[in-house]
Amino acid sequence: VVQLSGGGDWAPAALVVDMDGVLYRGGTALAGLDEFTRVTRTWPRVLLTNNSTVSAASCARKLQRLGAVVPEREILTVSAAMTGYLAAEFTPGTSVYVIGERPLHDAVRAAGLTEEGPGYAAVVLGLDRDLRYAQLGQATGLLRAGCPLIVTSLDPVLLTAAGAVPATGAIAAALRTSGGAEPVCVGKPEQRFFRAAMRRLGVPADRVLVVGDSLDADIAGGQAAGARTALMLTGVNRARPGAAGPRPDYVFGSLPELTGFLRRCTG
Ligand SMILES: [Mg+2]
Repeated sequence: VVQLSGGGDWAPAALVVDMDGVLYRGGTALAGLDEFTRVTRTWPRVLLTNNSTVSAASCARKLQRLGAVVPEREILTVSAAMTGYLAAEFTPGTSVYVIGERPLHDAVRAAGLTEEGPGYAAVVLGLDRDLRYAQLGQATGLLRAGCPLIVTSLDPVLLTAAGAVPATGAIAAALRTSGGAEPVCVGKPEQRFFRAAMRRLGVPADRVLVVGDSLDADIAGGQAAGARTALMLTGVNRARPGAAGPRPDYVFGSLPELTGFLRRCTG
């Protein structure tokens, strides 16, 4: 455990925990997952994912397969966050053009919007592993006609068992180039995603510990939302942070290290 900053007597009262690269990598549990979820069971906690191809239910099932029991209501996916964003920004019945997988289409419907064209008011983009060129073409036309581009994340890659594959940010970069639109991001590192998670906790932001494996997405976003942050060296950022860039309050090399820290916090 390395504490980089912050008072020595500070202790978290609630947790916002990124899942990919922290609890598992691809389909494989990281060591200490079951103990971590057991020890934090009584904590106010929200588990986050920027992956728009999963639902809270599928995340809970995956965790269960990996030996960890987490109630669905403690999981916040970026597709669920998209529902909140779209419901706040658009009137019910508005039509949007969606590129993404099933959970994102479900999210659009849950916001009261429709995918019936023509007359699309926005392009909503998440990861689509069956993406076709014609979809990029249709989205490009809409963006050039002035539709906003609303994306679930700007993450460049997703880590899978087969290695890094292009994620939503890579598709967004293509559409930014062809459509000339700056994407509006709903997921990490945007503050609104962390704030949505923290609203569920009932604890002030400065008592929340945001745990993640990405300096750019988790640490920068958690800090912007007013929380303390812990970097896990088990995902995308494997080296201790340098002098430049976001600086987490804590750095942990493994889940058992984090669990040990939280145990000491509760005495
Ligand atoms: Mg992650």
